[in-house]
Amino acid sequence: GAEHTKNVLILMSDTGGGHRASAEAIRDAFRLEFGDEYKVFVKDVCKEHAGWPLNDMERSYKFMVKHVQLWKVAFHSTSPRWIHCFYLAAIAAFYAKKVEAGLKRYKPDIIISVHPLMQHIPLWVLKRQNLQKRVVFVTVITDLNTCHPTWFHADVNRCYCPSEEVAKRAKLDGLLSTQIRVFGLPIRPSFCRAVISKDALRVELEMDPDLPAVLLMGGGEGMGPVKKTAKALGESLYDASQSKPIGQLIVICGRNQTLSSTLQSIQWKIPVKIRGFETQMEKWMGACDCIITKAGPGTIAEALIRGLPIILNDFIPGQEVGNVPYVVDNGAGVFCKSSKQTAKLVARWFGPDSEELKKMSESALRLAQPEAVFDIVKDIHELAQEEGPMSRISYTLTSSFTCGA
Ligand code: UDP
Repeated sequence: GAEHTKNVLILMSDTGGGHRASAEAIRDAFRLEFGDEYKVFVKDVCKEHAGWPLNDMERSYKFMVKHVQLWKVAFHSTSPRWIHCFYLAAIAAFYAKKVEAGLKRYKPDIIISVHPLMQHIPLWVLKRQNLQKRVVFVTVITDLNTCHPTWFHADVNRCYCPSEEVAKRAKLDGLLSTQIRVFGLPIRPSFCRAVISKDALRVELEMDPDLPAVLLMGGGEGMGPVKKTAKALGESLYDASQSKPIGQLIVICGRNQTLSSTLQSIQWKIPVKIRGFETQMEKWMGACDCIITKAGPGTIAEALIRGLPIILNDFIPGQEVGNVPYVVDNGAGVFCKSSKQTAKLVARWFGPDSEELKKMSESALRLAQPEAVFDIVKDIHELAQEEGPMSRISYTLTSSFTCGA
């Protein structure tokens, strides 16, 4: 009944596509697994809330840091460190107020952070409000390997690490084994439930039924050398001696509209589909035979579930670096920065080296963790049982706010 319904607040940010995909995966798994028992709110803390803007926060932070220099000159007798701290505290205070408003509004029994910058302030607010013992707070890390230390906070009930590598980092950072669980990266349930055959998908997506297909993408924003690679594939997948294509190409440009319109204007010799932001990635992946992408964790984990050999052609410095050895060392793909070589490799895979493609596909499937998202929500459910029903507690939050500098 409704009195047992628990509220879940997922804190995410819509930078790239990964955080949103993970948040939606968790929401969908809650619904499939527990139905009405949970009410899940996915909150983009950058965009949806006017005045909960992390982007703006960063911008204002830069502005303020500049002003710290002015302050330094004007008030040379004052410690610049004090001023710096004052500004940072002011930003934290601003953000904390928004977190408080979020708590009041959604009355969460459970808070799930899927963002590296959303542990400290929410946990601090919970502590201040004496809610830490009554609200379950968990972090779901969405980087496969080289993640930022801000993901780790000692006060969480659980920290879900997608890989042993990340779990190792969490332990080094002081988290206890009892706080850590390793289930895998949460992927939308549509990837592992209701799988449709490749033939049926190709009909539905109006693709060539017989030609092997390569999927080319660059995360939610269409990043990396997509244009160059698409052009190179347009050549390498065309057999000039027989005047016929040996493969077909699907390019998913995400939110990169410039990219999609540039590619649309090209005359192709092979069957090509150029798409914008797609909401049914599991279908496109299910209809293809291999994928070329930047080293985004979401895309990699999804491709593994679909058994797609992966050519990584780019990575975001920092958090995505470690994703390359994760794929390559496990035999599920290769790293190749050159668009020409990438295109030649795909042509070989679709021709004489089809065995290699098959082997990599098997390695990909071995590495895949399609059940991760269900394991995560079941574990959160158990945690919530331990804590007892909480939505009945009144969120009588203090409205005044003192700067904790
Ligand atoms: N994605 C999508 N539609 C698109 C392009 C991307 O749903 O048109 C999804 C993709 O399936 C993956 C996520 O966006 O789940 C991209 O996450 P990833 O971690 O690979 O890279 P990011 O975009 O976060 O840098």
